[in-house]
Parts: sequence; structure tokens; C-alpha cells
Amino acid sequence: MSDRARLLIVGAGGLGSPLALALACEPRIAQITLIDPDTVEISNLHRQILLSSAALGRPKVDAAAELLHRRCPRLQGTSPTLRIATRAERLTAKNGASLLRQHDLVIDGSDDLHTKFLVNDTACALGMPALIGGVVRFSGQLQTLWPGSACYRCLFEEPPPPDSVVSCQQAGVLGPACGLVAGLMAQEALAILEGQPRYAGAVLTLDLLTFAQRRIRLAPRADCSACCSAPPADEKSTA
Ligand SMILES: [Zn+2]
Repeated sequence: MSDRARLLIVGAGGLGSPLALALACEPRIAQITLIDPDTVEISNLHRQILLSSAALGRPKVDAAAELLHRRCPRLQGTSPTLRIATRAERLTAKNGASLLRQHDLVIDGSDDLHTKFLVNDTACALGMPALIGGVVRFSGQLQTLWPGSACYRCLFEEPPPPDSVVSCQQAGVLGPACGLVAGLMAQEALAILEGQPRYAGAVLTLDLLTFAQRRIRLAPRADCSACCSAPPADEKSTA
């Protein structure tokens, strides 16, 4: 693992906040970039541990970065050993590839399914690892995208039609579940950077009501349109 790793964390909310805090303390990480288009709202602060009511209306990434600078010794003093970069915008097809290329690992902690597909497709196209996590109500899951292994689109072929899936806002999220899943994601992020991911080609699901967890192995889907193991686009077109 490089001792100067650069991480892109997509989403600075319930998962992104504890993820950034945990990974900011890791001495082998040199840069964390936070990207999130949202502003701080009062409704979900209970699980967004880098945000507070004092920052209402401000971009989440700016408020999160400010608190990281206050809490993390690596960001203090005359020679900080960590850099926090912020992007108060949405990850899009237009800025995605350029942003991902500037980092060693992209970690998705957003609550938006289209963003997760975009992270997956962009990481696959670039042949770089990614980690995608999510929490709804009492359930969490995480999946590692690793070149040659099944990807997010192998599991969920297409984004669901609008309004066909209950959102985090509609279903609610158990606050402590975010901390638990984010802790596991932080561990997996370090394992990925070491080149030894625990969940490559697998999905980990957690039920916080029963404390049941399942590690489900996935095989790459032969007709996956994004998968890292799929043939390049020019080969597909002539197949
Ligand atoms: Zn795939």
C-alpha cells in the first residue's frame, strides 16, 4: 500500500461523516476528498457526526472539513500530514472519470442509487477499486469492487425506476447502523489499499435487529455492461 493514498468519499452524510473521521486518523492516507452537493439540514444530524446545527444551510462538505480540521491532529500544526479537499457538487458522468483518476480508491457512502451506479461504472471503466455501502432502516450492506471480480451492476443490473424503491428519507435510517457500517467500510478501505480486500466479489449484508450478517459471493455476470472483467467496448461491439 502506498503511504500517500488518496481517497475520494462520495457523500458527506450518515456514512461519509464517520468514514472520513475514521480514515483521517489513518497515517498512511495523504488526502481525502469529500464530494456532496447537499447543504446541512436539521432532519438527519443524529447520524451525520461531522455536522452540527451551527452549520445549517452550509455545504455539507465544508462543514465536515471544518470539523475534521478541529478533531484530527494530522490536520493541525505547521506541517499537516493530511489534506482535505472538498467538492460541493454532485458526482456526474461529466466530472466522474476525472475525479476518480486523481484518487487511489473511491468510496461511495451516498444515499442515491444513480450515484452508486455511476461510481461502479466509472471505477470499472478505469479499472480501479471502489467500495459501495448503504444503510436503510436497520439494514446495511457493503460491496467491494475489485478488478476481475463481480461489480455492483452484476448484482443490480439497472437502477430501479423512479419511486419504485423506498428512499432513506422515506424509510428512515437507524443512526448507529451508519456508524457500524462505516466502521466496516473503513476497515475494508484499508484492506483494499493493502491489496487484500475481504469482500472482493462479495456483498456483506447486516441486519441490526437480529445482528445477522451474510457474506454472499457473487460471480461476474457474463453480459454485465460495466464489469471490470467484461471485454473492452470495442470487443463487445464486434462480438
Ligand atoms: Zn459487473
